[in-house]
Amino acid sequence: MQFSLTDEQTMIQDTARRFAETELSPVAALLEDANERPTYLKNLKKLAEIGFMGLNISADYGGSEAGVIPFSVALTEIGRACASTAVAMSVNNLVGEVVQSIGTEDQKKKYIPKLCSGEFACASFCLTEAGAGSDPSRLKTLATKDGAGWVINGSKMWISSAEYAGFFVVWAVTDSSLPAGKGISCFLVDADNPGLTIGPEENKMGQQASSTNSVHFDNCRISNSAMLGTENQGFKIAVGELVGGRIGIASLALGLGSAAIDFARKYTTEREQFGEKISNFQGPQFMMADTYTEREAAKLMVLQAAWKKDNNEPYMKAASMAKLYCTEWANRACYTALQLMGGAGYTKDYPLERYTRDARVTTIYEGTSEIQRVIIARELLKEIA
Ligand SMILES: Cc1cc2nc3c(=O)[nH]c(=O)nc-3n(C[C@H](O)[C@H](O)[C@H](O)COP(=O)(O)OP(=O)(O)OC[C@H]3O[C@@H](n4cnc5c(N)ncnc54)[C@H](O)[C@@H]3O)c2cc1C
Repeated sequence: MQFSLTDEQTMIQDTARRFAETELSPVAALLEDANERPTYLKNLKKLAEIGFMGLNISADYGGSEAGVIPFSVALTEIGRACASTAVAMSVNNLVGEVVQSIGTEDQKKKYIPKLCSGEFACASFCLTEAGAGSDPSRLKTLATKDGAGWVINGSKMWISSAEYAGFFVVWAVTDSSLPAGKGISCFLVDADNPGLTIGPEENKMGQQASSTNSVHFDNCRISNSAMLGTENQGFKIAVGELVGGRIGIASLALGLGSAAIDFARKYTTEREQFGEKISNFQGPQFMMADTYTEREAAKLMVLQAAWKKDNNEPYMKAASMAKLYCTEWANRACYTALQLMGGAGYTKDYPLERYTRDARVTTIYEGTSEIQRVIIARELLKEIA
């Protein structure tokens, strides 16, 4: 058993840390202002230039070919500085991997290099709908055959990065006579398709620099060659590919929670009450001891899931456990860190309140904590069946 990173993995982690400290941390709070979107997009472009938008993508398509562990450790560092930037990086890597694993050679060549190079700031994963969140098998967006192509009608909700995505991976029903989840196919839709429009940005609690929008398809025509994978097999693609995405969100949450508790730990060594540093009291010491102990567990869980994926081992249960634990831990860590700072933590003078808002959604998107438990329980029962 090996608990240390390789030299290459350490180099990628160091690169990510430097980028996070020099480029992201100084602007992360400012990016919450929508007028700062150009700076946000500039940072995404820089991340592409250092190879972080295709960390597990083959060099044939412009990727770094570094693997899943480097993806995880890099995302943890980016998540420490700016969760909004980290979520775009996570989704871009996810979408690139979907196209890489399912796409035709033409599709891979058309889309992946532009995503890895930053020519496309982002790509969007278009699954959720107003009536289909935790249960996307019930989605209603319809794709109907029309001559040499398909016509898509319907609406998606909560789509990250939709406003500046270069293309969209879209799930739609292609055979409504089949049971839920059986007649769904997956398509690649270009952002400039005239049948696609982006709704206004959601007014979110956290991760405000990242745009989240509805996406509408109104007689959106696409060719047959835009189908990703096999007709009516699209739901399997969604379920399968989201597993890798969970390693991304777990890594982001690990970084975010770490940033919070590291900040508060330092504060307790500076702030005095009752003539003592706060860090001298056993109450705060125990809060830190528990949070850092849990952080080690979170780190090992996400790295184990990444290692399994890198080594082609089944990783669905490990990824769900990592997503569940890391995201719940990040929320606890933010709560504890804010408590350790007292009133100061509650103000916008310190980053704790932003970290706390940013952490909240991590237990919701890419499958809620409850859905992770459903998956974990299903996998556990399969093991004894
Ligand atoms: C900021 C943000 C960004 C997002 N980005 C994307 C994106 O890029 N692409 C995309 O496709 N989607 C995206 N989503 C959607 C996200 O994946 C869904 O919000 C999530 O899957 C939950 O769906 P829902 O919000 O409809 O909640 P619901 O499904 O309505 O769930 C409500 C509550 O019921 C619980 N629940 C539901 N079913 C069960 C069950 N079987 N057992 C126990 N509890 C259950 C849930 O855990 C939750 O607590 C994003 C969401 C947000 C908030």
